[in-house]
Amino acid sequence: MQDAIRDPQELVKHLDLPAEIAVSAAVGVRDFGLFVPREFLARMEPGNPRDPLLLQVLPRSEETLPIADFGTDPVSDSAAHEGHGLLRKYPGRALLVVHETCAAHCRYCFRRHFPYDLSGPTEWHDALQTVASDPSIEELILSGGDPLTLGDDRLSQLVQSAESIPTLRRLRIHTRLPILIPQRITTEFVDLLQRCRLPKFLVVHVNHAREIDDQVRDAIARIQRAGAMVLNQAVLLREINDSVQALRELCTELIRIGVVPYYLHQLDRVAGAGHFEVPVERGRQLIQELRDQLPGYAVPRYVADVPGQAAKVVLA
Ligand SMILES: *Cc1c(COP(=O)(O)O)cnc(C)c1O
Ligand code: SF4
Repeated sequence: MQDAIRDPQELVKHLDLPAEIAVSAAVGVRDFGLFVPREFLARMEPGNPRDPLLLQVLPRSEETLPIADFGTDPVSDSAAHEGHGLLRKYPGRALLVVHETCAAHCRYCFRRHFPYDLSGPTEWHDALQTVASDPSIEELILSGGDPLTLGDDRLSQLVQSAESIPTLRRLRIHTRLPILIPQRITTEFVDLLQRCRLPKFLVVHVNHAREIDDQVRDAIARIQRAGAMVLNQAVLLREINDSVQALRELCTELIRIGVVPYYLHQLDRVAGAGHFEVPVERGRQLIQELRDQLPGYAVPRYVADVPGQAAKVVLA
C-alpha cells in the first residue's frame, strides 16, 4: 500500500493516457484522494481511458458537481451507528468497522464520506462487549474500510476474541484486498482463518472479470482451502459492467473459481458518484437476461440498500 499511486499525473503517465485525464482527475480528488495499488494497476490496459478497472478508481471533475438526491450518507449508516464502530441495521448481524483504510479509493464507494473517526481499533473491546451481551447477534461482520489493511497479529487477536463469544455462530469478513493486492493473503492470514472454529464467510468485491488474474485465483484458492466460503458482491456501474456480456463474463469467471455471485448492488446515491448510476429498470433487464443464459447459482441477487428496511431490498 505504501507503493500505491496517489498522483493523477503519475497514473496518466504510467498508463499512457491523454493529459486531459489528469486535469479532470486533479479536480476530482478534492473530496476523496486518488489511491491505486500497483498490483491492480498492472491489470489495466495501457492507452485505454475506458478500461473497466481504471474507471473504478479514476477521479473525475464530475465528482464535485452536486446532484439532487446524491448525499453524503445515502444508506443512513450514521443512524445505525451504535458507537465504537458497530453498525446494527439487520437482525442477527452486527457489522464492525474494523479499520478505516482501504487498499483503493473506489470512486463510487458509499463510504467515501463516512465519518470514520467515530470508530477506532482501540474501541473493539467495547464493540465485542456489546456483541457478547446480546445473544440475538449470531454473526459478526468484519468490515471497514477494509479489515485486511490491519496486520495479521491484530486481526488474529480480533478473530480470537470473536471466537471466544459463545453466542456467536458465524464470522464474516468483507474485504477487497484479495482482489486489489492478492499478495495480502499471507500464510499467517490463511492460518488464522483456518484456526477459527466458527463457520467463515469471506465476501470479496469484483466488478469485472478482468480483475481476476492468476494471483487473484491463487489467493482465493488459499482462502477456500482454509475452510472459508467465498462470496462476491459487485456494484452495477455505468460503462464498467452494465452489459449482459460483462456481467455474464464476471459471473462465469466467479463460479469457475468457486466464488458465489452473491449480490449485484444498485449504486448507493452518494455525492460524487452520479456518473456511475444505471437505472433500476436496466438492471432488472440485465438480470433477466443473465437468468436466461446461466445456471441459477451464477446469477446474483440484484439488491439495494434502502434506509429503514430490515434487509437489503431485492430488486430482481
Ligand atoms: C449489508 C449489510 C449487512 C449484511 O447484509 P446481508 O444481506 O446479510 O449480506 C449487515 N450490516 C450492514 C450494516 C449492512 O449494510
Ligand atoms: S469500502 Fe470497498 S468499495 Fe469502498 S473504497 Fe473500500 S474497497 Fe472500495
